[in-house]
Amino acid sequence: MRSTSATLWCKDGAAKPDKDTVSDVRTRDEESTDGALRCRHCGLAIARQADLLHLDGSPSVQVFTNPAGLAFEICTLSDASHLREVSEPTSDYSWFRGYCWQIVVCVGCTSHLGWRFDAVDGDASPARFYGLKWADLVAPQTN
Ligand SMILES: [Zn+2]
Repeated sequence: MRSTSATLWCKDGAAKPDKDTVSDVRTRDEESTDGALRCRHCGLAIARQADLLHLDGSPSVQVFTNPAGLAFEICTLSDASHLREVSEPTSDYSWFRGYCWQIVVCVGCTSHLGWRFDAVDGDASPARFYGLKWADLVAPQTN
């Protein structure tokens, strides 16, 4: 008991100069593995990698083409934040049958990051999800 408090005070100078450096490294690791998918344009955290959604067993990143012929790599997510809807819901040309969509932009930089999909049929599951452009997100390093 007495020796514990004695140890606290007895750091004997330069014996362990690396302590602070070690804790710095740990903090940085926690940040890089928090699983956040970030806006590529402003760095705002948009979603968590844990929220990637596999609809009907599909991969969570799929390629879709819009009526104008533009192809997008879309990742489906069960939840997302820091997004704002900037269009009225419509089910015209919806990539997901039974869902209407709205354009969503990043609240940080107003870049068009993707679409929010809401089930038209109340029984559909999930009732809502997001389809975001993979190329506009930065995924955490996984290696
Ligand atoms: Zn942004």
